This record gives sequence, C-alpha cells and structure tokens, in this order.
Amino acid sequence: MNASSAPIRAIDVIRKKRDGGELSREEIDALVGGYTKDEIPDYQASAWLMAALLKGLTRAETAALTDAMLRSGEVLDLSDLPSRKVDKHSTGGVGDKTSLVLAPLAAAAGLTVPMISGRGLGHTGGTLDKLESIAGFNVNLSVARFRKLLETCGCAMIGQTAEIAPADRKIYALRDVTGTVESPFLICASIMSKKLAEGIDGLVLDVKTGSGAFMKKEEDAIFLAELMVETGERMGKKMAALITDMDQPLGRYVGNALEVAEVLEVLRGNGPKDLVELCLELSAWMLFLGECAATMQEGKQMARQLIASGAALAKFREMVELQGGDPKVVDEPKRLPQAKRTLDVVSPRSGYVTAIQCEQAGTACVILGGGRERKEDSVDPAVGFVLYKKVGDSVTAGEALCTVHYNSEARGARAQAILQESFEIGDAPPSERRPLVHRVITKSGEKN
Ligand code: URA
Repeated sequence: MNASSAPIRAIDVIRKKRDGGELSREEIDALVGGYTKDEIPDYQASAWLMAALLKGLTRAETAALTDAMLRSGEVLDLSDLPSRKVDKHSTGGVGDKTSLVLAPLAAAAGLTVPMISGRGLGHTGGTLDKLESIAGFNVNLSVARFRKLLETCGCAMIGQTAEIAPADRKIYALRDVTGTVESPFLICASIMSKKLAEGIDGLVLDVKTGSGAFMKKEEDAIFLAELMVETGERMGKKMAALITDMDQPLGRYVGNALEVAEVLEVLRGNGPKDLVELCLELSAWMLFLGECAATMQEGKQMARQLIASGAALAKFREMVELQGGDPKVVDEPKRLPQAKRTLDVVSPRSGYVTAIQCEQAGTACVILGGGRERKEDSVDPAVGFVLYKKVGDSVTAGEALCTVHYNSEARGARAQAILQESFEIGDAPPSERRPLVHRVITKSGEKN
C-alpha cells in the first residue's frame, strides 16, 4: 500500500523507474513480493528489470531491493554450529568453476560452507548446472536437509529454493533470458540477498572484469565490489572482494561436465596454472576470514596441503554422495556425460594468440546447449569446448586452438564459427600480461 492506502500497481512502478524516478521501499517491496508470489507476471517484472538496468538504482533503492529479496525467504541461523561459516561467490565468468574446488577445500579445513549458488546466467556458466552434470546430484534440498549436511560434511551446495532466497530464484531465471544481467545494482541485490540468507560470518567475492565478465571495465567491477562489500559490512559480515581477470576463459575446459572433470584435476593436485592459482588465492581468503589462517600466505600453504593430502578431494566425494550424486565420478571422470561428437577450431595462420573474445566464447557454449536461451530450456551437460591455446601462446597455421564437444550438427557448426572468430592471432604475443588478481577490496573504499 502507498501513503493513501491504495494498492501499489506494477505498471506505475515500471513507469516511475522508466522515467528515472526513485522508488520507495514500499514500491520495491510490492514489486518483489508480488512477483515472488506469482501475482505479477513475467512481462511486467521483465519491463521493470530493463528499466532498472537502463536507469540505474540509487543506493537506497539497491539496499531496499536487497532487503526485499532477502526477506522473501528464510535467513538461516547456523549459530549452533561451532565452526565459522564462510562462503565465496563469483559475479560470473566463462570456465569459472572455482566454487566446486573451494567449498570442499574450506570444509576440509574445518569451516562450514553453506553455499547457495545459481544456474548459468547470460553467457556465463552456473555452479548448479555444473553440479547437476554428476548423475543424481540434488541441488534442491530442504532447509532441514541442508542444515543436516552442513553438520555432517561441513559443506553443501544448493540453489535458491522456495524457502531460501525465492525472489532471487525467480528474478535470476528471468534476467538470464531478458538481457537484464549487466546492472551492478541488480547483481548486488541478487548475490547479497542469497549470501545474507546463508547465516555466514564472512564472504569472499570474486568480481570478474574483462571481455567475459558482466563488468567489462575495471572501474565498473570496482564499483560493484564496493557496493557488495558495503552491503555485507552493513549486515556485520567480514568481507573481501577480489577483482579478478575474465578477459579469457579460466582454465581450459568450458561446459558443465567438462568443468567438473577439470575440478577433479585440480583437487588431485593437477590442473591449469591460472585456475589453480585463483583457487589458492580465493581459498586463502576464505581461510583467513574464517580465522583458520593468520595470514594469506599461511592460508595458501594450508590450501596446498589440503589438496596434496587428498583431504579436499575426499570432502568433495563425501559431499557428492550426501547430495545423492554418483561418487564414482570422482575416481572415474569418464562417467560424466560425454558429447557424441567433437570438432576442432584451427588457427588460420602462424603467430601468437593475442586475445580471446571471452563473452563470444561463453555464448558459443550457450548455443551448444550448455546454457539457456529461454527460461524453460534444460541444459545439455555434455557440450562445451576444450582450449589448447590461451593468450600469449604461439600457434602454427592449421594447429588446433580448441575442440568443440557437441550433440547437434547445427549447433556444433555455429559454435565452431563463433569460437573461430573469438580467437585473435597476431605476429607477437601481447606486450603486457593481465594479472590474474587485479586488486583486493577489503573494506568499503579501501583498495589494495
Ligand atoms: N551471480 C549472481 O548470483 N547473481 C548475479 O546477478 C550475477 C552473478
């Protein structure tokens, strides 16, 4: 209701945002509550999201949206669990599979990791879709079961449910297919409403920047990071945001089942350098915020040991089994879904890879069926691509740059063409290498 007690109409809230007005808390509550309860249809929610993306939200509107989305469901109270509760969330990338390494690793260190994740969003992959490529893995647990698994295993990975963050569950799926992802305000509300519902003490944010990120420019990534750090601190959480590189895919495997296979390599002490390095950085921050490690260096050392000893892999196996997944996948990754066919993308000339247009590469995976083009779509867990060449690598004419894994001829051909175009080959490697971690923001406004 508004001041005159007349019901708030969705159409008026859409118009007000379209015209650049500032919405009241009541208007935002009415919109979020109405959509979550199926009283407002998708088309009105989509129109509002597009207006919000184009016109932006003020700090007060962002706070009201985050609160409304958080209050749409339950906020977990895990205070009866003795260990510290820490989580990590990424703003989304291509080949970004670190959550699957970090949750079991931090749990193996003694922390509790109550991870609520999302599905693929736009051209980026989603943790839930990756986990579901393991036969039987259930990401839809009740709150009671989620709590039970956190008690026994120390980590569990689920999606937004009807009980926890139901507003984000609906709004996230709608943004995925309506071109309304790339707003720092909507991303902040989406991420922080889920994470604040988890009952955590600390949160590490991986805020991506570069051609495959939603925030392409570093200054936009910093703005988003500060917005989220500020929101978390306001709610009494320990926060750290790492601005990390997403100017090319992370690791070598892109696609749901392919990425699970790469996660298993990392947990076995192998895996590509960039992915391993980022996992160590992020896990060290989790261990530091969770007070398992006194310094980042100690955190990294602990993380290395938990991988080398097999403890992180054993925790992953335990989590898979407890969530109904096939634990044999851990030792036999061939049990993961495999695409029927493969084809190579080859270099048209000799030289060096100077760039990989990363959003295009992610879109190729969506087109293969690895992501959704409509809300109702299901994903094909087996498809994706394996990169052999990354930025700075030398290549000879006719050499394979990557291999596409596909199940439909038409989709395979389209993805091959897109990937071919996304590689840029020059005479010399780029003169400057982009760092993996651009900077760290640990307190609102404080940059390292
Ligand atoms: N991750 C989320 O959970 N939400 C977003 O909007 C973007 C990334």
